[in-house]
Amino acid sequence: MRTAPLQCPRDTATLEAAGEHGIRIDRCPGCRGAWYEQDELALLEATVAKDEDSRRGMIDYATRESSLVCPVCHSALQTFNYRGFNLELDACKQEHGFWLDAGEAERVRELMRDRVRGLQRSARAETQWDRTDWYRPDGVLERLRDLFR
Ligand SMILES: [Zn+2]
Ligand SMILES: [Zn+2]
Repeated sequence: MRTAPLQCPRDTATLEAAGEHGIRIDRCPGCRGAWYEQDELALLEATVAKDEDSRRGMIDYATRESSLVCPVCHSALQTFNYRGFNLELDACKQEHGFWLDAGEAERVRELMRDRVRGLQRSARAETQWDRTDWYRPDGVLERLRDLFR
């Protein structure tokens, strides 16, 4: 449990408990940025779609040291491109959580929506490919045989 209230890494205002899409976050009354605890960013994504590889897929891109510090452990945050997109978020290396500036939570949800659409597209493409897989020994012939059984 927390001992002291968290401070905004941008302007040191005291963060206030708030709800966003049913997730309990800590929001800055000044800059409207928000602190998402470790699993809360995945919860935010889950308001759009479930994803199993949440943290790894999220922060593996272009990480570098941020000028902001973690409100929990006060070590420098790590800036990264969210899922490789043109959206920079900050995460604590010790996995305390993520800092999202005002508007970035909505960007995350938009990108997640695009990503789901992309995955659905490639799943469809795979199904089509599968149907025309003439080279697999158990492919088309087997299916033809099934038709006449
Ligand atoms: Zn702030
Ligand atoms: Zn931390």
